[in-house]
Amino acid sequence: MKILVTGGAGFIGSALIRHIIGHTDHSVANVDKLTYAGNLESLESVAHDPRYAFEHLDICDARGLADAFARHRPDAVMHLAAESHVDRSIDGPAAFVQTNLVGTYALLETARAYWNGLDGTARAAFRFHHISTDEVYGDLAGTGNLFTETTPYAPSSPYSATKAGSDHLVRAWHRTYGLPVLVTNCSNNYGPYHFPEKLIPLIILNALEGKPLPVYGQGLQVRDWLYVEDHARALLRVVESGVPGETYNIGGHNEQRNIDVVRALCELLEELAPEHPAGVARYADLITYVADRPGHDMRYAIDAGKIERELGWAPRETFASGLRKTVQWYLEHRDWCRRVQDGSYQRQRLGLGDPV
Ligand code: NAD
Repeated sequence: MKILVTGGAGFIGSALIRHIIGHTDHSVANVDKLTYAGNLESLESVAHDPRYAFEHLDICDARGLADAFARHRPDAVMHLAAESHVDRSIDGPAAFVQTNLVGTYALLETARAYWNGLDGTARAAFRFHHISTDEVYGDLAGTGNLFTETTPYAPSSPYSATKAGSDHLVRAWHRTYGLPVLVTNCSNNYGPYHFPEKLIPLIILNALEGKPLPVYGQGLQVRDWLYVEDHARALLRVVESGVPGETYNIGGHNEQRNIDVVRALCELLEELAPEHPAGVARYADLITYVADRPGHDMRYAIDAGKIERELGWAPRETFASGLRKTVQWYLEHRDWCRRVQDGSYQRQRLGLGDPV
């Protein structure tokens, strides 16, 4: 397959591309605008593979998209490009509306025109896979109950509202125009190459630097966590074998309270990085409770039974094994972290002729 991936320089997109190039014969065209969240250094291991190509492009640019489709002639689109950080969506929702809604619309229209121009077999085989989040379902009351593919949407943040809107657009393009779409809604991902504004890398890096470990409210919010490489395998399974028009929830069966995640990271660091920064006796002493995020959902939890039953996917990592791998990765890749933290990762754009 020739797969056009959007947002491939981001956290999940780069894991997906490394997985595709490393474990399949498919080729990839990576369409990415390189916002602050896009980091080509996460793709260094595949950058010179003849099956990988990069297109520096905004998904809101319909003409640019049409050219990219014409050049790469994809058999499938995997759409991950998005503004993805909830706190940023509260401070500045405009970019979220633009990329997540307008950008998804531009991509759908480009894909539809391209798909309409395909002949019988290629047209029947084409897939448009939209990658989304469990946050579209909103706050899950109580314990024990889980989000299924038919849970009504009730997004709480500007981020989740724009992702919910993009999910609706994608399903409408299936129902109205017949575009062969697949939608996946996944729980919180964690793992290597995660941008340090997100909880797990933020805690690891702050702890190593002796900085406060900020925890919203009392840290009682519950999230389901999935190791990013398990997500990449699930996405590939869906694009290869999913049924057009269907939605698949993806999750790790790993419900954890935020405070427990932070404590688990501190314990791992005690073992794996026993030399504390100056003035720090125990990493857990750095835990600092901060004012809760407005509109913060208390609990998300995914029922991933459908993808497990129908497509034979299951996560390989437990939370304990995935978290250990993640901490080890950050300890072994301090240079990648330093270049993200001081902004030098964005200067790689200069190599592409794009001034910072
Ligand atoms: P990310 O923020 O790490 O990466 C997003 C990528 O999209 C970046 O490379 C960025 O440069 C690119 N991008 C942003 N705006 C663009 C535009 N207008 N045109 C082209 N490229 C653009 O995000 P992520 O965590 O890798 O998430 C990827 C997708 O998966 C998103 O759609 C997100 O909603 C979804 N998702 C994320 C999680 C999670 O836990 N991170 C969970 C479920 C679903």
